[in-house]
Amino acid sequence: MDRIAVFPGSFDPITRGHVSIIRRALPLFDKMIVAIGENGEKKSFFPLERRMEWLNHIFGHEPGIVISTYSGMTIDFCRREKAKFILRGLRTSADFEFERSIGQMNKLMHPEIETVFFLCAPEFASVSSSIVRDIIRNGGDVKQFVPEGLII
Ligand code: ADP
Repeated sequence: MDRIAVFPGSFDPITRGHVSIIRRALPLFDKMIVAIGENGEKKSFFPLERRMEWLNHIFGHEPGIVISTYSGMTIDFCRREKAKFILRGLRTSADFEFERSIGQMNKLMHPEIETVFFLCAPEFASVSSSIVRDIIRNGGDVKQFVPEGLII
């Protein structure tokens, strides 16, 4: 049976930290679905189409990676896609606490799905989409934090 993982996120915008986690985790799975979760309550900075374009540009031709979007709960998306694994990255203890409660509640609801955590690579530990957005709002240069060649 195929090992299918979902890497869910807002990717608002995608950063080098995201790319690093995806590439490091890819050898563990037969297929990785990088999926933009649309949350009705949380307004994104970049439109969905733009975020999809970036993901397609970076991973579109890569075997084993599929780009997708979904709304609603990640766990329901996983079941629709027959994915047994959710991939998440951990940067800080705050990430851990946040992920722990979601992961454990997901486990209670759907015990067949495992959340797999990757420790962030040290060079990306302080890279976050929210700080990248702040820099952009203030007219700064984010080249070193986003994937090479990405036109923001
Ligand atoms: P969400 O809104 O679901 O947190 P993000 O797009 O911010 O979505 O992040 C998606 C995933 O990528 C999360 O698991 C997050 O912890 C991880 N992540 C974010 N930034 C980094 C980084 N610099 N290094 C490693 N993982 C990261």
